[in-house]
Amino acid sequence: RAKEAGRSRAVIFRPEMAEAMERRRDTELNLKRAISGGQLKMVYQPVLTIDGAPKFNSVEALLRWEHPEHGPISPEEFIPIAETSGQMTALGDWVIAQVLKDISRWPGLQVAINLSPVQLKADGFVRRVIRMVAAAHVRPSQIIFEVTENVMMDATGYAGQALKDLREHGFRIALDDFGTGYSSLSYLRRFQFDRLKIDRSFIEGVEENSDAVAVIEAVVTLGRRLGLEIVAEGIENEAQAKLMKEVGCTHLQGWFVARPLESSGVGQMLDTSPRVEPIVRMLRGSAA
Ligand code: C2E
Ligand code: MG
Ligand code: MG
Ligand code: MG
Repeated sequence: RAKEAGRSRAVIFRPEMAEAMERRRDTELNLKRAISGGQLKMVYQPVLTIDGAPKFNSVEALLRWEHPEHGPISPEEFIPIAETSGQMTALGDWVIAQVLKDISRWPGLQVAINLSPVQLKADGFVRRVIRMVAAAHVRPSQIIFEVTENVMMDATGYAGQALKDLREHGFRIALDDFGTGYSSLSYLRRFQFDRLKIDRSFIEGVEENSDAVAVIEAVVTLGRRLGLEIVAEGIENEAQAKLMKEVGCTHLQGWFVARPLESSGVGQMLDTSPRVEPIVRMLRGSAA
């Protein structure tokens, strides 16, 4: 019976599948217009540095698409479509250009940009990035490129070489979503990263699970031995923030710390940074 169901699974065509395919096709067709037509924007999520006096000195650039009919579409949905429809390079270039425009107003702030393996593998990517960054008068050290573990799974080795070239030119490299890939630990040996970001799934529920804390503690110890900055992603409450500080994470990112901001909000944050104060008091453990 089970075998039969298994076999027929590939044959039955459900209406939801047609809908999903339709939406995918629509997204693919509209993406091109979105890139040129002002439907895209970047938001920036502050990352709190806590090794030393707490401060906001880096942000992560996150892409947003406001579709005229469908409303906001998640990058989790449209990035894979851009990748398979040959649009990732154009989309990625748009992101980099936009960030460079914003960044020139924020000296001293590091900005993390997510990169798709498709971008890294494309011919001439590194040369183009270097040219764009130089033209914008931005120092490479102000930019952190975030890559996930699947970048390292590229059998051609092009992506790895591109990463190496970027780092040699002074860009900083972060390993994103650490722990979700197949052989995360081996990547730490194969490439010299600057920053390691522990995936949100490891943080979730950590405040009520001592085994989960042990796993993170081990990752932090390893990362620090390798001289890396350690970012805990997806911090959603005070208990998680305190725990992550206790186990030695050097950076915190998540809705509890700060939501992603419009670019105008970033400037404001840098000017005033009063937002840090309550968090700092909390991490010190003293009541306000
Ligand atoms: P990511 O690089 O791991 O980014 C972190 C994601 O977690 C973001 O989702 C962010 O909004 C979300 N987040 C931050 N704090 C919290 C929290 O406390 N709780 C929860 N539940 N979520 C939190 P977002 O913006 O939807 O982006 C999703 C993914 O899409 C990113 O994951 C990244 O892989 C990709 N992405 C986003 N922007 C770009 C881009 O410009 N280029 C490329 N290639 N990929 C991008
Ligand atoms: Mg990221
Ligand atoms: Mg991540
Ligand atoms: Mg992610």
